[in-house]
Amino acid sequence: MDSTPRFDTRAVLDGSESPAGDVVPPIHLSSTFELPGIDPELRLEDVDPSAGEFLYGRLSNPTRHAVENQIAALEGGEMGFAFSSGTAAIATAVLSIVEPGDHLVAFDDLYAGTRRMFEELFDHQLDVDIEFVDATDVETVADAVGDDTAMVWMETPTNPLIRLCDVAAIAEVADEHDAVFGVDNTFASPYFQRPLELGADLVAHSTTKYLNGHSDGIGGAVVTDDPEVAEALGFRQQVALGNGLAPFDSYLLARGLKTLGVRMRKHEENALALAEYLEAHDRVREVYYPGLESHPQHELASRQMDGYGGVLSFELEGDLWDAKAFLEALETMTLAVSLGGVETLIEHPATMTHEPLGVERRREIGISDSLIRVSVGIEDVRDLRADFERGFAAIAAPEAKP
Ligand SMILES: *Cc1c(COP(=O)(O)O)cnc(C)c1O
Repeated sequence: MDSTPRFDTRAVLDGSESPAGDVVPPIHLSSTFELPGIDPELRLEDVDPSAGEFLYGRLSNPTRHAVENQIAALEGGEMGFAFSSGTAAIATAVLSIVEPGDHLVAFDDLYAGTRRMFEELFDHQLDVDIEFVDATDVETVADAVGDDTAMVWMETPTNPLIRLCDVAAIAEVADEHDAVFGVDNTFASPYFQRPLELGADLVAHSTTKYLNGHSDGIGGAVVTDDPEVAEALGFRQQVALGNGLAPFDSYLLARGLKTLGVRMRKHEENALALAEYLEAHDRVREVYYPGLESHPQHELASRQMDGYGGVLSFELEGDLWDAKAFLEALETMTLAVSLGGVETLIEHPATMTHEPLGVERRREIGISDSLIRVSVGIEDVRDLRADFERGFAAIAAPEAKP
């Protein structure tokens, strides 16, 4: 029998080694570390946290170092970096690869903040030629990627319409043109999807979501197997930008990671049950969840992922006022942006997360005024279903609308 510890075991044990034998790694708050003496030969790069060597907290910190190793192990990669947010992780990953004049191909259905970063920081300010494509079709990606393409950036599944792209097929396209391929794996988490195993060069996270898992910390991470990418990332995180994750947040993240497997299984079980309930409801026009056989990419999801995740969206049969009445009638679920915590969060993309896009762009990408997104938590699913029933009961009769 294979003696390599499995995912749940690694999640609990990795990163917990401590010289004092603590079962839970301590939070190291010190901003600086005493040196044994003067070493005229010492260079910054030689200070090795893996050997218990630390110099200054921005460069490396024992708590952050431990959680970086823990995330790298769960993603099946060699080197991990933890950042002050998912946004910092993604910006630093892209800044590590592209230069002015380079071409970058990205999914046209990225997280709204990433899309704005790509447009306003990279394209407008840093003169990177960003090309957004419909990556649900590999051929469209293959047509866009050329020998001048420095980087390909994907996200799967996406938000809020839960679209997927084929990571292994896109990895081949990127590889043919020597482009670095990065994947934002926030929605699936490494429990359900490991892009490095599918051929990606780096994987990024908003750890704010499932990895931390308790809606109590903002953070991000990047994991890579490529030593050159790792060196570029490390320089930016530690020297050029100084955007590493703080010790206390690193501790919270390490604590959250231990239960990733059990949480993801429960998120998914609840999400599937609610998706099926919604699909059968006569006030629901459409349900978006890759675990449903009706999802157009159900087959790809089954092949590429080990499960379907905990986020679903659905479109009410109705308009903005119906969505408002539905959401305001809920008692168990919390009306809030973000996702991936143990509690169910529900939101209205048209007026909340995707409001900045404007009505025209929303219509283009299929975000209607009655679309609702749910980050399904780990509560008893019967209480969640009962809450939906409250929502449906509150939808106004057509003549009661303003
Ligand atoms: C939340 C999120 C981000 C941004 O992460 P922050 O931690 O909020 O900076 C990036 N990508 C995806 C898919 C996200 O859900």
